[in-house]
Amino acid sequence: MIPDLATNHRSLTTDHCQVIYNDSGLMSWFKRESGEFDGPDSNGDGEKNVRTEGLWSKCPGCRQTIWKADVEANLNVCPKCQHHFKIGARQRLDLLLEPGYQLVDTGLRSTDPLNFHDMKPYKQRLRKAQEETGLDDAVLNAVGQLGPHAVVLSAMEYAFIGGSMGAVVGETITRAVDRARNQKKPLIIVAASGGARMMEGVVSLMQMAKISTALAQLDDARVPYICVLTDPTTGGVTASFAMLGDLNIAEPGALIGFAGPRVIEQTIRQKLPEGFQRSEFLLEKGFLDAVVHRRDMKNYIMRALQFMKVPEAANTTAAK
Ligand SMILES: [Zn+2]
Repeated sequence: MIPDLATNHRSLTTDHCQVIYNDSGLMSWFKRESGEFDGPDSNGDGEKNVRTEGLWSKCPGCRQTIWKADVEANLNVCPKCQHHFKIGARQRLDLLLEPGYQLVDTGLRSTDPLNFHDMKPYKQRLRKAQEETGLDDAVLNAVGQLGPHAVVLSAMEYAFIGGSMGAVVGETITRAVDRARNQKKPLIIVAASGGARMMEGVVSLMQMAKISTALAQLDDARVPYICVLTDPTTGGVTASFAMLGDLNIAEPGALIGFAGPRVIEQTIRQKLPEGFQRSEFLLEKGFLDAVVHRRDMKNYIMRALQFMKVPEAANTTAAK
């Protein structure tokens, strides 16, 4: 007997839930509040739709609807396709360092040297970003333990004006580098940036040289530096410290590059290959040393530091 095809598309509503049959005949269970899946405000109750908003999201990696709590419990990685979502600087510190780490080099804020206006004043953008992120600028420095290793860690915050690098980011990262050199502690920088901060013009570009010089001194002092490139690491950040690590390791699928693909295509008048500017492509071409899953990152860095034979001074805390 031919089944009634119409049942494949209908919704049955019970007291507690709604059963939705999709085209493949599979049945999914949603709480009744999930009106958002039937189209905007399908039950005429705007409040209910608002309430469910934020519980589910669509994964840009596999296009599947995923429960946000599942993603959060999985270090903000999609449990279905392993797409790595962006995470904030503070989360990054929590992920890599043992509890009890200490934030340092705080309290620096941009003075808006050019008194810059675009669609709105730069000062206004800064204020908004500071309110939303609770940070002074797009980076956080911390000292703490990464497993048995005492380290200096600098993590960038993409939510702060696209993680762009102005004078404050430049100065903060340089202080992290100097601290690592003075205390002979390995330096880890987690990059997440759209590049130089255009609102600070040439001042932002100078940060590339400033940080690179400090890193050269760190290298002379034979203190290890590991850079972790996350999605996205582009522009002046890629063109300076993000590619200068003794080890440059990236999270899977991260966008890493200098100029955007459209600009390159227009310049060289060629179609770019699939996956261009993604971690895996760059690893294959020798620009990266490894692509490491977020859940394995801490262990990987720990093993790398062990291999690099971190100077005794850096390990004093662990030895005690
Ligand atoms: Zn996914």
